Amino acid sequence: QRHAPLLAVRDLGVVFGGIVALNGVSFDMYPGQILGLIGPNGAGKTTLFNCLSRLYQPSRGDILLEGVSILTRPPHRIAEIGISRTFQNVALFPNLSVIDNVRVGTHSRTSSNIVSDSLKLGWVRRGEAALNHKVDEILGYLDLRDVAHTVVAGLPFVTQKRVELARALAAEPKILLLDEPAGGLNHEDVHGLGDLIRRIRDERDMTVLLVEHHMGLVMSIADHVVALNFGRKLAEGTPSQVQSDPGVIEAYLGRK
Ligand code: ATP
Repeated sequence: QRHAPLLAVRDLGVVFGGIVALNGVSFDMYPGQILGLIGPNGAGKTTLFNCLSRLYQPSRGDILLEGVSILTRPPHRIAEIGISRTFQNVALFPNLSVIDNVRVGTHSRTSSNIVSDSLKLGWVRRGEAALNHKVDEILGYLDLRDVAHTVVAGLPFVTQKRVELARALAAEPKILLLDEPAGGLNHEDVHGLGDLIRRIRDERDMTVLLVEHHMGLVMSIADHVVALNFGRKLAEGTPSQVQSDPGVIEAYLGRK
């Protein structure tokens, strides 16, 4: 790779009580990459994901975003430095409309920037207009304009997942963390989701980390795959390298 890594995970370790959930995991993520994180149940994927989104504090190691440790950042300010996530079971405000949920996403980062810029210009309204424009653009991009004023709880699950993506994109992240996005979706929806993730990467200059059990999705859209087992990195490489890795095959067959 010619670029410097966007994100560097270095010797990461997490211990819960006596359980070693992550044990010295290191890997790099490069700009524009879609990185798939795989592994059997209990391998440590969720734990790693939660370290990246600052829900868990690792017991050792470091996570560097553009060379700067993210571990001193308070969890609620992680979006400001460019990391946004979605949740396995969709974590939207169910009683708010789609547009309001997406607006919440903008508050993580952009609104404060835009508002402070506009204050310097002495013109707050301009900040508001820019925000509304951004939200509208994202709704259009994810084909959500028709349901913009619908309450989220009334929407099909697959649409709620798109709203979650919209909210994450509204923070204009450098890195998008997707927690099992294919969970609960049917075959056709998974296919559509794969196309969408790739389009977001290509058209919006995004770098994506995907934790996913759906091997078909990972192998079809990831550029690079990291496989975990028992809290350690078992293998990494292209999808086909990882798929044919004897250790990875054994880990999956041995556990099923
Ligand atoms: P799955 O695919 O089933 O979601 P995973 O790869 O995401 O699994 P983790 O959930 O990260 O794996 O779990 C790694 C290990 O850490 C497991 O042994 C799990 O039981 C343990 N663990 C995870 N979270 C906690 C916690 N909050 N407290 C105690 N142990 C935990």
